[in-house]
Amino acid sequence: MGEQVTRSIEFKSQSSDSTNPAEMHLTAFSQQEMKTRALKSMLTFWLIAAICVLIPIAHFVLVPGFFIGGIVVASRRWKTEEEGRDATGICPDCGKDICIPLDKIAELPQWHDCPDCSKPIALQPPEAGKTSQS
Ligand SMILES: [Zn+2]
Repeated sequence: MGEQVTRSIEFKSQSSDSTNPAEMHLTAFSQQEMKTRALKSMLTFWLIAAICVLIPIAHFVLVPGFFIGGIVVASRRWKTEEEGRDATGICPDCGKDICIPLDKIAELPQWHDCPDCSKPIALQPPEAGKTSQS
């Protein structure tokens, strides 16, 4: 489910200001898929809530917790058009080919540490900060 999309971005070094072209891989959802995903996650949470009814004492916390959690997760998914999978490119600091997992977040810019040299890198849209080019 979801369409696999590759988008051009930039890795920007926080220490030297140099940038490298990079690619962000994400999953794009249609309106229908967004709703299906939202409903599925809500039903899953509510199923867990229903099972938690059987657990003595803990159910006072778990049942409303999962019930509300299902609504929160579903409403978030309802609005999620894109989920980031990972970003690949050359680290501007150490020059290594790196792959950064995005934890499902597709918004830019975002900041990560290089998995190789641990230096902070900004993931940003290409040409960010440059005004003259279209
Ligand atoms: Zn690095």
